[in-house]
Amino acid sequence: MSAQLLDVKSMFKSELEEKLLELGLVKYRASQVYGWAMAGINSFSDMSNVPLTERKLLDRNFFLENLVVKKALISDKKDETRKYLFKLSDDNYIESVLLKYKYGYTACISTQVGCRMGCKFCATGMSGFIRNLTPGEMLEQIQKMNSINKIKISHVVLMGMGEPLDNYENVIKFLNILTDANGLNISKRNVSLSTCGIVNKIYDLSNENLALTLSVSLHASNDKIRKNLMPVGKKFSFDDLLKACKHYVKKVKRRISFEYTLISGVNDSVECALELASKIKGMLCHVNLINLNKTCKASSLLPSTIVSANKFKNTLLRKGINVTIRRNLGSDIRASCGQLRASGV
Ligand code: SAH
Ligand code: SF4
Repeated sequence: MSAQLLDVKSMFKSELEEKLLELGLVKYRASQVYGWAMAGINSFSDMSNVPLTERKLLDRNFFLENLVVKKALISDKKDETRKYLFKLSDDNYIESVLLKYKYGYTACISTQVGCRMGCKFCATGMSGFIRNLTPGEMLEQIQKMNSINKIKISHVVLMGMGEPLDNYENVIKFLNILTDANGLNISKRNVSLSTCGIVNKIYDLSNENLALTLSVSLHASNDKIRKNLMPVGKKFSFDDLLKACKHYVKKVKRRISFEYTLISGVNDSVECALELASKIKGMLCHVNLINLNKTCKASSLLPSTIVSANKFKNTLLRKGINVTIRRNLGSDIRASCGQLRASGV
């Protein structure tokens, strides 16, 4: 896409209004164009209530982000999880997942092409960083899954490829467009953001008035284990991360979710569970135990046995910690972070 063209889906309605006024169009036109863009229309020529000459003017100044479905995988299991590999306009690839729950559809979207955080167990982390996604590219993942499946996604999780807090400005703008009444109008309560723990950005996020549910990928009970699995642990200590989490809970008044991938012999002992419990006791939090997705070719790490996973869970429960083992939705379709792209389509 040519650099001088502006992506309507990366703009607030007020920004589009300003640009259209500069081009000599009436303010009302912005409502129409923005309305079409948010409804998932990807071509100005389809905006039937906009005069033809103005549609051409729009074409010369703007574009509408449009992802191409390169591959779609539908889970054989009853859960109906669908995974999409989307091609971006610069021929990079990203993944998104559509999950069906009793309460509606959830989109799990990517925020970057690749990731620079390098977590040892993660296919995305192992493949390195290419670039940040724009707000429009994040929005379009939801719109495309809506239009392909003729549904209306009600919940969004930023848990696909990439580290959302490493693409902070674009992610915040996307979240504001996503939850705006003129945008996709998705309730802030229905949006979660998962981070590997970029401490200063967690403080920034707590000031954004977004009231998101925060998931923090902990995966360890102390600095030593964390540093070994997640390079970000060398930059921010475990204690500083927990302090930032406590601040977020206090400010936003929402329960935090700790993601903990159980890896055999690395972080899944009863001692680890006891250590974790002692550190998070009393916090408004929930621990999500995830089994390491072993189809990930990127590392030699192995998932915990069912026995160890249950022992870990029961130890936390006994210590009064809210904990669940996350059901592995879509594990037959490589639905874990970065696995489809890494498998070389
Ligand atoms: N960068 C963010 C969000 C994307 S990763 C973060 O790290 O939180 C989304 C989740 O998938 C994280 O909790 C991550 O730890 C987990 N994950 C990555 N690779 C995995 C694997 N092979 N098995 C299980 N979970 C994995
Ligand atoms: Fe990046 Fe998250 Fe994967 Fe770590 S787990 S490499 S932060 S995407």
